[in-house]
Amino acid sequence: MKSRARVVVIGGGIAGCSTLYHLTQEGWSDVVLIERNELTSGTTWHSAAQVTNFGLNQTMVGLKTHSINLYKELSDDPDYPINYHHGDGGIRLANTEEQMQGYRHFASMARGMDVHFEIIDAEECLRRHPLISTDNLLGGLWDPLDGDIDPYQLCQSLIRRARKAGAEVYTDTPVIALKQYENGDWNVHTEKGDIDCDIIVNACGYRVNEVGAMMGVHHPVASMEHQYFLTEDIFAIKQASQRMPLLRCPISDYYCRQEKNGLLIGFYEQNCKTWGMDGIDPSFVNALCPDDIDRVTDVLEGAFARMPVLRKTGIRSIVNGPITYTIDGAPLVGPIPGKRNAYCIIGLRAGLGEGGGHGWLLAQQIVHGEACYDTWCIDPRRFTAHANTELTSLKAIEDYQNEFRFHFPHEHRPAGRPAKTTSLTAVLAAENAEFAVVNGWERVEYIKPSAEFHPSLSFHFDETFDIVADEVKNVRDNVGLCEVNGFNRFEITGPDAYDFLDRMFCKPVNRKPGRVGLGYLLNDSGMVKSEATIANIPASDRGENRIWYGSAAASEFHDMDWLTQHINYNEKVQIKSLTNDQTILLLAGPKSRDVLSACSREDWSKESFPWLSVRECFIGFSAATVMSVSFSGELAYEIHVPNESLYAAYLSLRKAGEAHGMKLFGLRAVESMRMEKGFLSWKADLLTEFDPFETGLDRFVTLDKDNFIGKSALEKRLKKGPRQKLVTLSIDCSYAPAHRGASLMVGNKVVGTITSGEWGHRLNINLAYAFVDSEKAEVGDKMMLNLLGEMIPVKVIDSGPYDSSYSRILA
Ligand SMILES: Cc1cc2nc3c(=O)[nH]c(=O)nc-3n(C[C@H](O)[C@H](O)[C@H](O)COP(=O)(O)OP(=O)(O)OC[C@H]3O[C@@H](n4cnc5c(N)ncnc54)[C@H](O)[C@@H]3O)c2cc1C
Repeated sequence: MKSRARVVVIGGGIAGCSTLYHLTQEGWSDVVLIERNELTSGTTWHSAAQVTNFGLNQTMVGLKTHSINLYKELSDDPDYPINYHHGDGGIRLANTEEQMQGYRHFASMARGMDVHFEIIDAEECLRRHPLISTDNLLGGLWDPLDGDIDPYQLCQSLIRRARKAGAEVYTDTPVIALKQYENGDWNVHTEKGDIDCDIIVNACGYRVNEVGAMMGVHHPVASMEHQYFLTEDIFAIKQASQRMPLLRCPISDYYCRQEKNGLLIGFYEQNCKTWGMDGIDPSFVNALCPDDIDRVTDVLEGAFARMPVLRKTGIRSIVNGPITYTIDGAPLVGPIPGKRNAYCIIGLRAGLGEGGGHGWLLAQQIVHGEACYDTWCIDPRRFTAHANTELTSLKAIEDYQNEFRFHFPHEHRPAGRPAKTTSLTAVLAAENAEFAVVNGWERVEYIKPSAEFHPSLSFHFDETFDIVADEVKNVRDNVGLCEVNGFNRFEITGPDAYDFLDRMFCKPVNRKPGRVGLGYLLNDSGMVKSEATIANIPASDRGENRIWYGSAAASEFHDMDWLTQHINYNEKVQIKSLTNDQTILLLAGPKSRDVLSACSREDWSKESFPWLSVRECFIGFSAATVMSVSFSGELAYEIHVPNESLYAAYLSLRKAGEAHGMKLFGLRAVESMRMEKGFLSWKADLLTEFDPFETGLDRFVTLDKDNFIGKSALEKRLKKGPRQKLVTLSIDCSYAPAHRGASLMVGNKVVGTITSGEWGHRLNINLAYAFVDSEKAEVGDKMMLNLLGEMIPVKVIDSGPYDSSYSRILA
């Protein structure tokens, strides 16, 4: 065994094999894979191994396309051909119009990735799959490239190619300890000796947390038992001139594909079961869990009704194996939070289909720092400290029970809630607040007209439309109050703090005490990495000069890693997270100054406290830090309050607001107002796939500034000119918002992709942001939006159409 390698990948299932292969493809050959038993002996060997192109966002669709293309190429290799049923086709069934709406949206979104799904009716489903009944069926989504692959052969062929490129593979070699040296390198201690390396990758499937524990981390991954059975031969299949397409059914929660001359049917039963919660037998290798077909009888009935032939077909064998889940169903592929030189590719619940793509994106991240797509939807740092095993298993059960039921817009499922609350959550619930979940935090979405109010799940505007309109109106005319909990906030101190931040931001950081500034951080490729406000809090009896770095709620681990990993060894900078210690009360509207003046003794006039100021003060008797910043486009203040006095500050503000028509408002109103004002949202509109000029952030970049992360890459990019530009669109449609990912078309050509969409209630227009080809980015340019299957005219308009002179914010 080697004693040193550049990368050690631990685990020889599809995740590890794909990562190893793709590292060699990226040009790194000094790479090693270590497997405790034999390759594929975890979950991979018994996978049903379906390979679909369907995904819920463009990154997932893109990575699955990569898998499909790669698997096709491997299967066609004359030196080592593998069994891949490529392009059998597959149908996702639907029996409600709302499911069909969703499929139409996903088809529009996939089109932007050059993937062509078809929406078909029930008769067409039957024509393509002659074994089904059309009872209780509306239609479905047709994925032409759906298929299945031999998992063992797939892994062997990846390893064969990786070895040819210089990689080494050690099987029957359990990793038993990991140690990190001071310089960031790792020591991998195995039963057969040690290897030192620069980088480690955890690809250990259901044993993820055994290896996680070796490096002192706990990954939010839980395993579920999952069963399928294989039937005896079916005469109609034997006789058929073509293979049966795959089926996935959100009505009765099963999937089905052809296996030899019979069928393979897998179940997602309601009465499901977690696995391995209290540890895993070390000898569970190439192993299965005991069959328990009684557990799936609820689902079986639905499958029998859809495919009557099953009633007279015998079962040949049953497979029951562990499958890993995370909190939101997507895997964790990328840097391990809080660790240097450590990555993971874990929590794969559809790892055979997706594994090719995940290994590809992970290898790019390891070698280049970032992948070709924005990988936030699979980033391990998207969950923070609340993501423990108990919560993960609750969400895993819920997700398993809803395997083929995609989330509708604004749908927040109940398991594992409330995870993170403040002293106001119950108070606001008593005021009929409806909550959304943001990184575990319960945030007010809007105030319901009654406790019984339940809007329908839909891709159209729903019954909340007028409620949100009223909340916006009150913010515009009077004043509104909104709790923004979980907002990410770091306190940065130390003599080198500003020099350090100047290197991180692409515009000089405003150092003036009492002032607040917005800025952007780029990655090494010059693309948009993060957005943050910097507030310079002057020295007071509460502390020395402090810098508060504020960014999106979910960015805590992401931004903390990015910042701390860039502090030079000789720099004196300290970063402390205050995210869980403080909450913001957002006061917005023309009367917000009056409200503040009524509950605080400070002078809040614009002369004394102009826009973009920060000061410490008291709200009533609660110590607070107030910033005059606005995301709504109205005069507004962010009131940052320590959690222990949040309720007291809230009561003071409510009392002071009584005379000024103050009402509560929520996230949905904020979303509408920020789009009218042209403000962007991290990981919706601010993506690592675009540079700041493409994103329209020109005024936040100072290229003649000394140096900043990403500067030289950005300068190189500039010479080529922008590929796409972020624009604001008005949409000629009043029944539905534009949904993220939907495609913009000119004729048959996709020219852009929606990033955000919401009704602008103050301007009364249907607004969207989109990245569009740069030649379609001029104000007045017209194109068509594929909105839920309808072609709708849209037009590029000025960014931030509401109060473009800023007269309301500056009032
Ligand atoms: C019944 C069933 C049906 C499925 N059907 C499909 C499907 O149709 N399509 C699809 O895409 N997915 C499907 N899946 C899911 C898919 O099989 C998994 O997502 C995938 O196999 C996971 O691969 P992995 O590499 O992450 O994990 P594994 O295959 O479990 O590999 C992890 C490897 O790490 C090794 N390892 C662990 N600890 C150590 C250590 N300390 N030292 C060294 N090595 C170690 C293990 O021995 C193992 O080989 C199915 C799963 C099940 C259970």
